[in-house]
Amino acid sequence: MNSSFIPIEQWGFPVRSVFIAAGPCSAESRDQVMATARGLAESGISFLRAGIWKPRTYPGTFEGAGEEGLKWLTEARDEFNMAIGVEVANPEHVEICLKHKVDVLWIGARTTPNPFAIQAIADALKGTDMPVLIKNPISPDIDLWLGAIERMQNVGLTKIGAIHRGFSSSKKVLYRYAPNWKIPIELKRRVPDVPLLCDPSHICGKRELIYSVAQEALDLLFDGLMIEVHNNPPVALSDSKQQFTPDEFLMLLKRLTMRDEISDSDEYQTRIKELRLEVDHVDDHIIKLLAKRMDIARQMGVLKRRHNISTLQPKRWEEILESRVNAGKEDNLSEDCVFQIFQSIHEEAIRQQEEES
Ligand code: PEP
Ligand code: MN
Repeated sequence: MNSSFIPIEQWGFPVRSVFIAAGPCSAESRDQVMATARGLAESGISFLRAGIWKPRTYPGTFEGAGEEGLKWLTEARDEFNMAIGVEVANPEHVEICLKHKVDVLWIGARTTPNPFAIQAIADALKGTDMPVLIKNPISPDIDLWLGAIERMQNVGLTKIGAIHRGFSSSKKVLYRYAPNWKIPIELKRRVPDVPLLCDPSHICGKRELIYSVAQEALDLLFDGLMIEVHNNPPVALSDSKQQFTPDEFLMLLKRLTMRDEISDSDEYQTRIKELRLEVDHVDDHIIKLLAKRMDIARQMGVLKRRHNISTLQPKRWEEILESRVNAGKEDNLSEDCVFQIFQSIHEEAIRQQEEES
């Protein structure tokens, strides 16, 4: 993928230290849009988001105000001098947004995984300079996300950003759509120049969790946040529990700490160098220990074959997992982390045993 992404600060609307998009899940009425936009403008927010075509899970729920909603949004844009952004899911949506001169489009998590829809949207945008934000697909498939970005690039768009909004999972314990930070981190590694935003509202599904997820995104050097704000959340027609009032949103912004990637401080520079050397040293040990463990695994592979024994030993594997997870807990390592590491080690050990025998 060639790397011709224009930094978000150069997209043509004000960006503070990070890009902030805020506004209701859905544009519901003229009064609701204007009241929310007024509250946001008073807090210095200059980018208003709102859905006008809503991808609802079940039919019969509020599916958005449609083109009518764009009249309210453009009125808010003119009155409060804000840029506006809406979600598009097909070429017809794109045409309507171009007609109303919408400033930014975003592609929702249910559209990103559909290459036909993405290509149709890209074709409708060909020849324009439209900024497009692409949410991650609902399942943790980085290639579908990268593919959607590439389809936009292929029609000549250069103002392209990505939004991490969490992934669908069968175990909805804490989050509505759990974050999986390693995926946006890997996306950034593969396309370093793509502006990366986080949408903690859809990740969390409830207001109380949003601060910590938003702060984590800033700690991970995301370039911006998209957050849902409604003038009266309890009566919102969609995503009521995850929307802030404009005042609550302002308090949230004040609590958040922006981060820098580098620092000129001598104290920081000296100490971080020392600590990085220590990390390099420990990582060397880890690699050597892993190699040693695999050497033993290969010897076990030969022995098992000689006695016609299966490579996988379910009881032993269960014991290993349990004892390593417990040992990890004593040293303050999370169960999930130890579990995943040993799953990878076990997978490689099996591969090496099979290879040897
Ligand atoms: C939204 O931003 O309102 C929305 C529907 O987002 P997502 O595609 O992330 O669910
Ligand atoms: Mn929403």
